[in-house]
Formats: sequence, structure tokens, C-alpha cells
Amino acid sequence: MDLDWILNHLGEERQRYFGAVVPPVLQSSIFTFPTVAAMREAALHEMDAPLYTRGNNPTVQILRRKLAALEGAEECLVFASGAAAIAAAVVACTGAGDHVVCVQKPYSWTRALLTDLLARFGVAHSFVDAVDTAQVEAALWPETRLIVLESPNSLTYELQDLEAIAALARRRGILTLCDNSHASPLNQSPLALGIDLVAHSATKYIGGHSDVVAGALCGTRALIERVFRGPFMTLGAVPSPHDAALLLRGLRTLKLRMQRIAETTPRVAAFLAAHARVARVWYPYQPDHPQRALVEKQLRAPSGLLSFTLKAADGAAIERFCNALRRFLLAVSWGGYESLVCPLVAFLPEGAPLQHKLGRAPPELIRLSIGLEDSDVLIADLEQALRASGAPA
Ligand SMILES: *Cc1c(COP(=O)(O)O)cnc(C)c1O
Repeated sequence: MDLDWILNHLGEERQRYFGAVVPPVLQSSIFTFPTVAAMREAALHEMDAPLYTRGNNPTVQILRRKLAALEGAEECLVFASGAAAIAAAVVACTGAGDHVVCVQKPYSWTRALLTDLLARFGVAHSFVDAVDTAQVEAALWPETRLIVLESPNSLTYELQDLEAIAALARRRGILTLCDNSHASPLNQSPLALGIDLVAHSATKYIGGHSDVVAGALCGTRALIERVFRGPFMTLGAVPSPHDAALLLRGLRTLKLRMQRIAETTPRVAAFLAAHARVARVWYPYQPDHPQRALVEKQLRAPSGLLSFTLKAADGAAIERFCNALRRFLLAVSWGGYESLVCPLVAFLPEGAPLQHKLGRAPPELIRLSIGLEDSDVLIADLEQALRASGAPA
């Protein structure tokens, strides 16, 4: 199945809806049946049959089929957010007395899921520097049930060797989950490397227009059924059919958007890396990246996230830089059509000392999400804001 077919046609049975080229938004909470036998049949197969929209909805179902195909998975569930997808996966795979190994610097709410929520229910966790597969192995307990990965990682984009970690986990009967939001389903296929479950914040590249919050989880039919019967149905964090329609629209241009940022982002990264006022750039696709071989092995193309620090980065210089930008908008999140800037100092009290914490991103870090603009426009904007920052050259 080729990519264009998946994005434009898979799952779209147009003859069932008057030949409409765009699938209908079936904004209905319930589905009716001609007979009790037909109703019983739907109730028996609630993951696949429309009965009640918390379980299955035909608009959402088209999206599930496309996302499963993009990840090379048997099945997919779509959630009300990426955080809900990750939480459902972890809850479905663990119980009291179990242990989870997680990358040191996961997405902040993945961290909070383990440290604040699941810890209260008797699920233990260890954070490890998973750049080194040996450290993952050393962190395993007899009670370890799940390894949570995020490659490339948030903010500083370290990679984990997905194939090596998946093989290690398989040997011990441990499940693996990889947050694949950064690469999008197009640029990395964790399931093909042996990972059991792939999660997405569909809010990011899959949606692509900053107008919907959603998540997805892909894996084998058996694992996804386990998630469906457990946290998916009980916690009920499902997307609305209208959200699914927005995501289907996002998928129409996913290939073009990813191609575009694969061209422009390396230019922006190279500009920053060569700039006199910039101290350091984090971008997995820099020619001198220490994990170059793994980047080439695991990733098909660059994504649009990069981070950097200013020279002698005091909080005031960072604020001057961000306030001076005109094309990059100041906002959280990423993956939309628009370029964004997100400085970590926005999450610290004003004037707070930039304290470095072990295993966390540097507090002076500034993240950029590259949108669909011309790289020349973005580079010119960065140039004038770098000058305005007053950071030493
Ligand atoms: C945004 C994000 C999430 C959470 O997704 P939401 O859709 O905001 O709930 C999870 N993982 C990563 C890497 C993210 O960037």
C-alpha cells in the first residue's frame, strides 16, 4: 500500500455516502439497529462496530485505519489527546507491584503520569539515560513490565536504539512503548524495529494546523484490544467525530508538510549553528551529531523541531530575543503550519536563577518549531531577534 493511497483513499468507502469525496462527520453518539440480533452483534464487536461513539464511530474509524496503516500496525485507537493515549497504554500494561523503565527526559506529562499518578497506585518507575542501551538493561527489575521510550526525545532530541532495546525487552517478556510524535508516522516506524506500541500526539504533525488536540496508539490487534477493554473504554478519553474529521484533513497534506520542513529546518539549524550569538544547537540532523549512525538507521527524514541556547544566556536576553521575533509566534506545542518559539524560561518565575537539574533540559533552552514558511523569511527574523537579544557575539 503506497503512502498516497493511505492518505487519500484507504478506509473511505465513498459509495456508502453518496460518492462524497470527503467522508461525513458522523456527529452521532449512538447508532440504531433494525433487530435485536444486529444490536447484539454490534455489542459483541464494540471495537469495530458502531454502537456508541465512545467505543466506535465511523468517522473516527477511517482515521484509525489510516493511522494503523501508516505505522504498519494491525490496529489503532484514537484518543482525545496524546497524553490520554500514552496514559492508556501505560495503564493497560501495568498494575500494582509492577515497574516501568522510562527515558530520562520524557514529555513532561508522561513524567507526571509515572511520578504523580501511577506511583499512587503502586506502579514503580526508574528514569534512565536510554541513549546507552546498557543503562536500560541495568535498570530492569524482575517486576519490570514496560519500557517507555521517546525517540527523538523532547527538547534535546537524543535517540534511543529502538531495535536493540526492543530485542532486549522481548527476551525478558517486557513490553515496549515508543512515543513517535517527533518523527511522525512518516519518518520513523518503531513497530518495524520490534517495538510493541507506538503513541502519537496527533495534535502535532498528524493534525498539523494547531486546531485539534488528539492522540493515537498503534500495535497488534491483541494489545490494542487489551487497551480498548481497559483504559480506553473506562477512562473514555475519546475524540469527537469532528476532531477526527480535522485529523483526516490534516493527513491529506501530511506528506507535503513533512517534505517541506525536511527541506527548510536543516537550513535554519545550520544558520543557528554558525551564528556568533548562539552557544549550542540541538538538532538530530546536524552533520556532526554524535548519534549520526543511529539517525541514519532509524529516521527517514528530518523533522521541524530544534533547540538552541544563546551565548551568556541570562533570562533577560532570552526574553528580549523571543519578544523581538515577528514570524515565530510565542506558544507551547509544535507541529502546526506556523513557526513557533518556546523558551523554557517561560515556565520559571520571572528572574529565577537558571538552575540546571540532572536529567532535565537546560533551563536556558529555546525550542523552535518550524512551520511551512520560507526558510529565508525565518532566518531573517531570527537574525534580527538575535541582534535585539543583546547576547554577546
Ligand atoms: C505534545 C506531546 C505529547 C502530548 O500530546 P497532547 O496531544 O498534547 O496530549 C506527548 N508526547 C510528546 C513528545 C509531545 O510533544
